[in-house]
Amino acid sequence: MIIGIDLGTTNSLAAYYTDEGPKIIPNRLGERLTPSVVSIDEDDQVYVGESARERLALHPDQGAHLFKRSMGSRKEFKLGGKTFSAQDLSSFVLRQLKEDAESYLGEPVTEAVISVPAYFNDIKRKATKRAGELAGLKVERIISEPTAAAIAYGLYQKQEDTRFLVFDLGGGTFDVSILEYYDDILEVRAVAGDNYLGGEDFTNVILEHFLEEHHIDKDECTDREMAYLRNQAEKGKCASQGENSYRMQALWHGDRLESTMNRRDFEKKTRKLFDRIKQPVRRSLSDAGVKIRDIDEIVLVGGTTRMPTVRKFVGRLFGRVPDTSVNPDEAVALGAAIQGAMKERKSSIREVILTDVCPFTLGTEISVKTENGRLEGNHFCPILERNTVIPASRTEKFFTVYDHQTQVEIHVLQGESRFASNNVSLGLLSLTVPDGRAGEQEIDITYTYDVNALLEVEAKIVSTGEIVTKLIKNQDNNMTMEEMQARMQELAYLKIHPREKEANKVLLLRGERLYEETTGELREQLEAVTRQFERILDRQDPDRIEEARKDYEEALDWIEEALWLE
Ligand code: AMP
Repeated sequence: MIIGIDLGTTNSLAAYYTDEGPKIIPNRLGERLTPSVVSIDEDDQVYVGESARERLALHPDQGAHLFKRSMGSRKEFKLGGKTFSAQDLSSFVLRQLKEDAESYLGEPVTEAVISVPAYFNDIKRKATKRAGELAGLKVERIISEPTAAAIAYGLYQKQEDTRFLVFDLGGGTFDVSILEYYDDILEVRAVAGDNYLGGEDFTNVILEHFLEEHHIDKDECTDREMAYLRNQAEKGKCASQGENSYRMQALWHGDRLESTMNRRDFEKKTRKLFDRIKQPVRRSLSDAGVKIRDIDEIVLVGGTTRMPTVRKFVGRLFGRVPDTSVNPDEAVALGAAIQGAMKERKSSIREVILTDVCPFTLGTEISVKTENGRLEGNHFCPILERNTVIPASRTEKFFTVYDHQTQVEIHVLQGESRFASNNVSLGLLSLTVPDGRAGEQEIDITYTYDVNALLEVEAKIVSTGEIVTKLIKNQDNNMTMEEMQARMQELAYLKIHPREKEANKVLLLRGERLYEETTGELREQLEAVTRQFERILDRQDPDRIEEARKDYEEALDWIEEALWLE
């Protein structure tokens, strides 16, 4: 079985394809979204999703979130004294999605199509693929999120040629992409974005307002207190649907504090964020060589596009109502599932050829002659330009630069700076060329970049016909199969919570959190229902537990609501 996975910055989800179309796979708790949060306790028990999110507020030092931002980097996350990379943590999320899908579908899930932001570079894409492999999945394809969203919107079923813009504002990232569909080809024309802009920033505006109003100094708060306050700000943000204000409430050192911001103030305080949103929009339009009026449809993706302020802004910017017919949280996963089915050639869908663009420029380092005849290194020579439609292959000619030069180093780089040292180094190729005068030896360098974001560099010494090729492995993450196996074994000692216990655990953690947030009578009631639930758990009668869980959940819902209304 093949599934589609949207591995998100804040939430992840999986979908599969049926004859009636793609469907979301609920997780073990019956929820469609699984928070991309991991937490590990003293007994090496791994918590993923809702339970990890609850634990994050109580034990910030044992959990991690937003790690997708560090995918493929050397950043280390310490969880309960152990060290993990973003790739490891993502593999836990993927493993849980895989297990939940298996139990829901009743069959093994072995393959997946995983989405990544269009803006992810080669290193990040490969790290995502490896995370899937660490989770025991064969990663059939890495698909860019806007392409997946466009597929979910059925844009591949259109009869006429269409050009559309995908506006994806998630929890921590913003991506804008321009796609074109013609003759059964779905082509990404341009991508642009901001890796550090998303719903979190809007949450921060509400949080900052609250802190200012109540004269709370962030530097004097513990990690745990900040995690709690951020959670409350997030709740306030999501609860204000359709209302004309944003309200945040929190229990602070025994007091119940509240702050309210009207929509106008909110819009004023978020103006800078909207200005930042405009930049990638402008860049993508100019890279694709189109005007706003050339765009036939606008598709909204990502949880933050649920905000009325954001929808209003998009409407104003583009002068039309955006298409929101598919749930913005689910479009990417649904599209990835359709892509998986296309790979398996399910007869009910017409196959479209997907093309993508290379989201960054790939090139090499060269030396150039200055006006006074001196050789100056550290210059960047692009070979595959940003937004080149892939798969693509380009060849550039290069020559030796000084007499008797027999060694040529090809430094493979990615980035947009004129200077090699400002760009990301992807690898090195060394060649030995025949002795000669400067400029006598020609080396043809070919970069081939495919849809799975693999870069092949080929260097041909023209005089001898010798060819040297290299598949670029990224420097941060060039694990061999053996190393992968070893890491898989290392991670295997960590136990993922058995599914039947998970739902109980989530509720108990929620109870624990609510205990901290309540006082007086409400706290006593909470204590009583929690004790009752624990007593039934101790008796280990599955039927009774099921029933008690429902009662306990209802009680918690009621207490949470009372807390909110107080
Ligand atoms: P995503 O990365 O697409 O899962 O989007 C997650 C982001 O969407 C988070 O920052 C959420 O706070 C935000 N979000 C989800 N639902 C809502 C809502 N109803 N109103 C405002 N923001 C929301």
